[in-house]
Amino acid sequence: MTIRERLRGQEPTLSFELFPPRSPAAEEVLGRTMRAIVERRPDFISITYGASGSTQGASRSVVQTVAQQHNVPPLAHLTCVNQSRDDLRAVIEGYLEDGVKDFLALRGDPPQGQTGWRPHPDGLVYASDLVRYLRDIAAAHGIDDLCVGVAAFPSQHAIPRFRQTALDVLKAKQDAGADFAITQVFYDAAEYTGLVAEAAKQGIGIPIIPEVMPLVSAQRAVRAAHVTGVSTPQDLIASLESAGSDADAHARGVDYAARLSGQLLEEGAPGIHIITFNRHDAALDLVNRLGLRR
Ligand code: FAD
Repeated sequence: MTIRERLRGQEPTLSFELFPPRSPAAEEVLGRTMRAIVERRPDFISITYGASGSTQGASRSVVQTVAQQHNVPPLAHLTCVNQSRDDLRAVIEGYLEDGVKDFLALRGDPPQGQTGWRPHPDGLVYASDLVRYLRDIAAAHGIDDLCVGVAAFPSQHAIPRFRQTALDVLKAKQDAGADFAITQVFYDAAEYTGLVAEAAKQGIGIPIIPEVMPLVSAQRAVRAAHVTGVSTPQDLIASLESAGSDADAHARGVDYAARLSGQLLEEGAPGIHIITFNRHDAALDLVNRLGLRR
């Protein structure tokens, strides 16, 4: 069953995001995390992919492990920035050979500090181009049940001068053939409901799954803002900083994420996608708090 079909179910979907490990020690941690999260029978596990294709082999290996050893549908992230069409085709065909049906089509960020960046001369420019490219390649291989997700940006939509751009870009992705979207992280349920409501008014009907990131230490909360480009709320940072112990900070961070996720589900979110940082404790405590599974 593809993610598109799972999203038609009665219950909200549960999913997690992992990233490919960068060392043997990190690989061990990832292995433990995978074993713990698959016990909750997630609908899918997404695996990030470095911009410019930097984690190509490592991402594919995690995707294979998720599918073959754990029998959970992988959602393979794919970026197109700084890659030629031929390189992308090879990566996509590799995934299709492995039986992967679900992709998250992203542009990826250009390398930091590279001024005057230009798209690859024989590459794709936007994520919507990648959606079309994925569909074309799958069709050429006779695959008609491909499922493609894209990114959506509630915090961008919440800023009046960027609002229409956020909607236009999401509409372009839907028109290119996207089946669903996963949001960038955000901390205010109203940003999500605002995006979903406006999107519906403008003919964007694809399910939009909110991404939730349990932040269980002040250090991680500060770092998250650098990684995602979304400011971590001051009240969350202050709460984590004033915690009496690591366990107290953990409980406060999970509580914050649980309250946000609970609001989102009450508002009709089609699922919750949890960023794990390749650690399972906070992610699974959040699942327990939500009573999501299983
Ligand atoms: P696009 O939709 O192509 O947008 C890129 C820029 O172009 C935006 O400024 C947009 O406004 C503009 N734009 C788009 N279409 C048009 C158009 N037709 N005309 C004019 N302007 C246009 N990054 C990674 O490197 N690896 C990952 O695994 C990864 N996973 C992610 C998962 C999620 C859920 C999210 C939300 C983000 C993820 N990212 C990842 C980050 C993402 O690659 C960046 O946010 C990137 O800057 C934008 O990607 P996009 O897919 O939205 O690109």
